[in-house]
Amino acid sequence: MSNNKAKIATVWLDGCSGCHMSFLDLDERLLAVAERAELVYSPLVDMKEFPEMVDVTIVEGAVSSEDDLAKIRKIREHTRILVALGDCAVTSNVPGMRNPFPLKDVLSRAYLENATLNQQVPTSVIPKLLPKARPVHEFVKVDVHVPGCPPSADTIFYVVSELLEGRIPDISDKTRFGA
Ligand code: SF4
Repeated sequence: MSNNKAKIATVWLDGCSGCHMSFLDLDERLLAVAERAELVYSPLVDMKEFPEMVDVTIVEGAVSSEDDLAKIRKIREHTRILVALGDCAVTSNVPGMRNPFPLKDVLSRAYLENATLNQQVPTSVIPKLLPKARPVHEFVKVDVHVPGCPPSADTIFYVVSELLEGRIPDISDKTRFGA
């Protein structure tokens, strides 16, 4: 791909992948995006390290674990425009459903009460949960918020197209929470 294309990344934090599926629902419009931008980091491509600098990073999901937090801080440092895509990234939405409960009760429910074998709370491999699942903007600056669960492909195409034109998209009549 040409080096003068804009660089786009997508990131999957604590979400269900539905926002990424909506991105894939761009279908043939993915080709229009690919003509103008290169997808340099994403669950959809095999790049292990976040690049030195990315023009637009689209983030799905809430910040729920220490791993998510380290990731989003690093990504923010290496991104010009950060987009919180979907209600989980914007409000914490579904991951935030655990927030009314103490973390120890959440872990106990998942790993002890509901487990039939090997009941124990993991202490390695699984990233350590933060006390609450929080929206992205509570930890780093977000430039564009795109609500929806998930936002439609039409909305995502509009947002990406506007950003590639160098404009901050006005999504006020394009989407809403729970859309
Ligand atoms: S906003 Fe909805 S579709 Fe997107 S990750 Fe969260 S639950 Fe899934």
